[in-house]
Amino acid sequence: MRLDPLEDPEIQAKDADLDVETLIVGAGISGICAGIGLLRKSLTSFVLLEAKEELGGTWRENTYPGVAVDIPSISYSFSFETDYPWTRHYAPGHQIQAYVKHCVQKYGVGKHIRYGSKVQRSEFNAQTNTWSTHLDTGEVIRSRYLIAATGLLSQPKLPKIPGLESFAGKSMHTARWDHDYALQGKRVAIIGTGASAVQIIPSIAPKVAHLSVFQRTATWIAPRGDFELNPSAALAPRKLPIYRTLLRFFSELSLELLTLAIVNYRRFPFLVRGIGGVVRSGMRRQLNDPELAEKLVPNYGLGCKRPATSNTYLPTFNRDNVSLVTTKIKAITPSGVQTDDGERHEVDLLILATGFLTTEQGNGPSFQVHGLEGVELGQYWEAHRLQSYAGVSMPGFPNFFLTAGPYSGGFNWFAMVEAHVDHILSCMEQARLQGVTRIEVRRDAHARYMSEMWARAEGTIFKDSSCQGSNSYYLDRHGDAALPLPRTPWWRHFRNKRTKTKDYDFGGH
Ligand code: NAP
Repeated sequence: MRLDPLEDPEIQAKDADLDVETLIVGAGISGICAGIGLLRKSLTSFVLLEAKEELGGTWRENTYPGVAVDIPSISYSFSFETDYPWTRHYAPGHQIQAYVKHCVQKYGVGKHIRYGSKVQRSEFNAQTNTWSTHLDTGEVIRSRYLIAATGLLSQPKLPKIPGLESFAGKSMHTARWDHDYALQGKRVAIIGTGASAVQIIPSIAPKVAHLSVFQRTATWIAPRGDFELNPSAALAPRKLPIYRTLLRFFSELSLELLTLAIVNYRRFPFLVRGIGGVVRSGMRRQLNDPELAEKLVPNYGLGCKRPATSNTYLPTFNRDNVSLVTTKIKAITPSGVQTDDGERHEVDLLILATGFLTTEQGNGPSFQVHGLEGVELGQYWEAHRLQSYAGVSMPGFPNFFLTAGPYSGGFNWFAMVEAHVDHILSCMEQARLQGVTRIEVRRDAHARYMSEMWARAEGTIFKDSSCQGSNSYYLDRHGDAALPLPRTPWWRHFRNKRTKTKDYDFGGH
């Protein structure tokens, strides 16, 4: 039986008014990174609340056929834990999940996780400088600090298509894959052609009788430099720390350069266009039919929305049992998908590869956060645009931290989260050094930071006319490119090292 961490005297807060010093909501990569960081600073009074019965977030939820990472695993991992026996250069999803579990065990985070604990809301008490977090069971947990680590791409988004509920066959979202459902010989429709679909389509096409792919917007497909690794070989290069350091450096360098070109698009448009030209002709070469190529090769700029990597996705459309449908979907009927041209595509299985909530209210964090004077974070953002200081904090929300706030996203979730956790821990350490109980980012510093972000976002490709028609989820409903950091990962890293606590007020006793 699992022990409740809140009953562990080594975890309970020393302060009698608190249950625990730090409450982390979410036990995915971000929450676990925060937990490891706290332990490395000998801050042992923390609990991670996990809604599900297993840790892992994204890589627990996404188990669809073909699921794998899109950047080399040597980079897509914690900088302090790079020696892992990956079996492929781009690790499959289950291995990343196993890696996350390995980190939890190695760094002793496991006993701090409380499962089956879903948070509804959290409220700040300005008299005591504490957070009261309400679970759906009615339980309330009091903590000094609150870290929202509920991820960004975790709440499935179902399409608003008339008749969806009426479908009489099997239907599943990509993040709710039913492995007991046999695909052999089935007629299948998949709606959506984002990164998830790009991996599913080539994985299932050889098994099914027929696959109809419903594409609204084409996705950029870059070549995938994947290969098998033999982690147990006597001469496995991974055993050399210098090899891991160099490989990680070059992998990060390539992401740095790609991001540099995308976020400075208006200054150097030829960079993205040049790379785009090469990728586009590579895509065309993989397709036998020029009409098919016309539909599958995007007509918006590279980088406007998340590109995918695959060597098998495009050639799958050359198969006889795969058809691409670009006519608008009119309705879902009990027997399949009906398009605007009146055609009915009868299927046994409907796969919804339609993505996740991103900038919508009620996502990131996935629970209500009430700061000073009861202001709710999601409502504040809705009224005043999405914003955050360095992706981690907000004025008016003392002792509260985000692991992936607005204007902070990047290609490599691990690198981003590590930088943010480093920032959060510096604030907490500073408060501990000063013997104070309240940390709040200064309004002037936040305003300065956000005006830089808003100005910079205007110079990115996301706001350029070349992105028209891309339907990018990087943009919110106000047209703000509020998800990605309009700077590069290394800029974040070095700014973080330099500034950290200087823009915060520390107070309270
Ligand atoms: P996504 O990128 O948001 O793609 C959703 C797809 O569904 C899009 O093609 C979208 O079309 C389509 N769609 C949505 N509603 C529709 C409707 N009503 N009718 C027709 N089409 C509709 O979602 P995803 O593929 O699940 O990927 C989400 C994110 O997860 C990725 O961007 C990535 O960050 C992450 N991911 C990573 C990996 C990896 O590392 N390898 C793998 C999978 C996912 P429009 O484009 O027109 O909106």
